[in-house]
Amino acid sequence: MSFDITLCETAWTARDPAYDGAFFVCVRTTGIYCRCVCPVKQPLRRNVEFLPSAAAAELAGYRPCLRCRPETAPFCPAWKGTLTIVEKAARLIRDEGVLDGDGSVETLAERVGVGSRHLTRLFRRHLGASPIEVAKTARVQRAKRLITDTDLPMTDVALQAGFGSLRRFNAVFQEVYKRAPSEMRRGRTAPVTCSHNSHTRDRKGLKQDHFVPGST
Ligand SMILES: [Zn+2]
Repeated sequence: MSFDITLCETAWTARDPAYDGAFFVCVRTTGIYCRCVCPVKQPLRRNVEFLPSAAAAELAGYRPCLRCRPETAPFCPAWKGTLTIVEKAARLIRDEGVLDGDGSVETLAERVGVGSRHLTRLFRRHLGASPIEVAKTARVQRAKRLITDTDLPMTDVALQAGFGSLRRFNAVFQEVYKRAPSEMRRGRTAPVTCSHNSHTRDRKGLKQDHFVPGST
């Protein structure tokens, strides 16, 4: 079953319960997304886009409708099996880092028992992102945790988080957060030690003796 816009339009117009959970109706003018069975007055077609999952709708910045509660929609039975595959693959990406280093989508697909192109399609449908994109997000999250929770050198953070090199790590961070990883660590609220006073010196009245490291 592929994602068919015409089918979505028909099912939405008819509020067809057979397609409840199979796609979501996102209203650009209100920023709200609905199930196709939502009782609220339907907006104009040109203000509507159809997305394949609640996750995809939220990723695109839509908020769930308070009437039909799309975030609790049942998964369309025909799609339930494929959701299990996506969940399993996403767990392997996040917890085992199967796409880090030499890992490939082909190997991942083999482990969950489908072809790689099919797996990529299923990811798009259920998560609105490719396996590679999900892996990238997972690496960034891991790295961000290591930066704020530990004092590991950046090279170790990069490797432990699953980046192939420090350069790649820096590039991805720049792209996602618009700043270098080291700036993120400097911005931490509770410095563990304060070995150099270069920061405090340029601020009037803030002397090193008065600089009290935050307690954790
Ligand atoms: Zn609704």
